[in-house]
Amino acid sequence: MNELQSSVIDFSQRNTNGRIIAEYIWLGGNLIDIRSKCMTLPEDVDVNHLPEWNFDGSSTNQASGHDSEVILKPKTIFPDPFRLGKHILVWCETYYPNGERTDSNFRKIAVEIFNKTDHEKPWFGIEQEYILYRKEINWPLGFPITGYPKPQGPYYCGVGSDVIVGRQVMEAHMRACLHCGINISGTNAEVMPGQWEFQVGPCESISAGDQMWIARYLLLRCAELFGVCICWDPKPVMSNDWNGSGCHTNYSTLGSRSEGGLEVIKQQIEKLGHAHSKYISLTGVDNEKRLSGKCETSDLNTFTFGVADRGASIRIPRVTDANKKGYIEDRRPASNMDPYVITAAIADITILNAEH
Ligand code: ADP
Ligand code: MN
Ligand code: MN
Ligand code: MN
Ligand code: MN
Repeated sequence: MNELQSSVIDFSQRNTNGRIIAEYIWLGGNLIDIRSKCMTLPEDVDVNHLPEWNFDGSSTNQASGHDSEVILKPKTIFPDPFRLGKHILVWCETYYPNGERTDSNFRKIAVEIFNKTDHEKPWFGIEQEYILYRKEINWPLGFPITGYPKPQGPYYCGVGSDVIVGRQVMEAHMRACLHCGINISGTNAEVMPGQWEFQVGPCESISAGDQMWIARYLLLRCAELFGVCICWDPKPVMSNDWNGSGCHTNYSTLGSRSEGGLEVIKQQIEKLGHAHSKYISLTGVDNEKRLSGKCETSDLNTFTFGVADRGASIRIPRVTDANKKGYIEDRRPASNMDPYVITAAIADITILNAEH
């Protein structure tokens, strides 16, 4: 449990006297550090015209102390699943006072790319893997304090206290996502003990990144309730006895979903192959530790594809091959990737022929 015990008085039931609470949320300068702070607003505020705000960017690795203000521009709004009522979560982009985007604001670039690819209606389904971990010992939940649990095998989609840890966190998170209108398509226990996955999608264009970032925020908040941490590292336990965490990105377009789609898919895969070496650098910090060619991953330096092949860079699902249309799975992105970067890069490469 947390150091702090819960109060015997439930303040969430108090009257807010005509005010709502807006939690402004943004991505910090370390590219995986979600930050937030809240303000109160009149209950009848026009949520389509929420005020801009600012924060101390020198504390988030986004500005120097001498010119510390970074601007928050509200972009998408979700109902707050923790505070309930009319309270809201406000997902923001970050800008410098001169109007330029900050270095961590890839949403702006993604919007510019998706404005040019909207006619192809790109859909993304992202599988977020993560591990629950104990910060006191910097070690996964479900691992003994020293040493290792019994080998991988019984944990994936497991049932029972001998193989499962943290199911309450997954369940709370899924409920929170559903409350927010996040298109969470499922969850499962993963191969390593304490490792889980949730999927968000299919979502079109920019909403894939928007929904994934809010889903990550909700996961951090749910884990707080249980005093446990989320580790987004691609290879938290450095041995090929233990799987890393990925963020497989499933992808389709109007063309790939239509009659003759398999031909479109073949062209898309060829373009992804050409762009492989540059694209890999976008797939997350330390992903080279994960993409070993073992543990259901492809090799970092080799682009491969295949039907139902979980050791390939791109898997063509059997159902896509059978229907001669549908979607593909890019298995390269790591758990700590920025979904704006990955979704926009895939659309850019396959629709706009970018080399990356
Ligand atoms: P896996 O078999 O690799 O574990 P999952 O079931 O975990 O796959 O995730 C598949 C994801 O792909 C889901 O989020 C699903 O909604 C998404 N998806 C399904 N169809 C499409 C499509 N046509 N385009 C993009 N994503 C899709
Ligand atoms: Mn202050
Ligand atoms: Mn999956
Ligand atoms: Mn998985
Ligand atoms: Mn997958």
